[in-house]
Amino acid sequence: LSPLDDSGKPRIILMGLRRSGKSSIAKVVFQKMSPNETLFLESTNKIVKQEVDNSSFVQFQIWDFPGQIDLFDGSVDYSQVFGGCGALIFVIDAQDDYMEALNKLNTTVVKAYKINASIKFIVFIHKVDGLNEDTKMETQRDIHQRATDDLRDAFGSVPGLDKIHLSFHLTSIYDHSIFEAFSKVVQKLILQLATLENLLDLLISRSGIEKAFLFDVISKIYVATDCSPVDMQSYELCCDMIDVVIDIAGIYGSEGNENGPFDASTSSIIKLNNGTVLYMREVNKFLALVCILREDNFEKQGVIDYNFLCFRNAIRQVFELVSEEAQPTTNGPAL
Ligand code: GDP
Repeated sequence: LSPLDDSGKPRIILMGLRRSGKSSIAKVVFQKMSPNETLFLESTNKIVKQEVDNSSFVQFQIWDFPGQIDLFDGSVDYSQVFGGCGALIFVIDAQDDYMEALNKLNTTVVKAYKINASIKFIVFIHKVDGLNEDTKMETQRDIHQRATDDLRDAFGSVPGLDKIHLSFHLTSIYDHSIFEAFSKVVQKLILQLATLENLLDLLISRSGIEKAFLFDVISKIYVATDCSPVDMQSYELCCDMIDVVIDIAGIYGSEGNENGPFDASTSSIIKLNNGTVLYMREVNKFLALVCILREDNFEKQGVIDYNFLCFRNAIRQVFELVSEEAQPTTNGPAL
């Protein structure tokens, strides 16, 4: 089974103890719920919650581990669950006692690994907004240490388990850390990531752009970026731009547009008072390019637009979503 579904979307499972924050993460990242509203999310009593969002580039499910119930008692066919899954995110509430969560993490990783050795395991050390810098670091160190020690103890029983790599992210729904962490997870699942990054590098170097992100519009996860380092402020700025554009288009955009407010003609330019420009263009049904560049470089918008069309063409080919639309006839960026 491939980690991608039929339409090429990465498949992700979100697991963790009840109240660790899974539904909140899903609502904030994929449904634009504001973090404060999650306080009123109802807790369900079902063992398994399933949520699949089809309007995003990412497909995911949520699984609860309620209290004492043993999820692995044989009542669920886990070969299905883990077999087709690309990444398993285990959410741990860092504001709570996490010993029970670490136990479940261990059982889950061992179980999932036996079924599907190619699964990527990620731990979100979540709700860190309530911790100060020192405690944050100490908690991360402690959880990392205990989780890897527990796994080492299980090595003997499962061949190959020593090759497992767990990644850890400090997250909170109250800032952009949850989006950043999710972006990293999705990037692990994109088989064509290196090609996307090369295309972005090519685009920015030929167009005088400083930073470019390829965004999943609905979730504001970035699927790829160029090779220059990501600074959180630039990322947040680009996220804000997407929100503004989608909100305005949603309110004032043409009605009767089947694809909603976001379509092939969606683009936006925002000039900031520090001499930089934010430029957004639609790439395909799910994805948009958002770039940051200096205002002087934006004078050559024609070149940027031409390069962008070549870039979009290439991206669409990568995702095998080439449509019948008119495309530039030459290949490769201008200049
Ligand atoms: P689930 O049972 O794992 O789906 O957990 P919920 O999503 O229902 O969240 C449980 C509680 O944790 C809710 O009251 C949320 O508001 C709260 N919560 C979720 N994420 C965060 C976070 O990042 N920081 C803080 N402080 N609280 C959070």
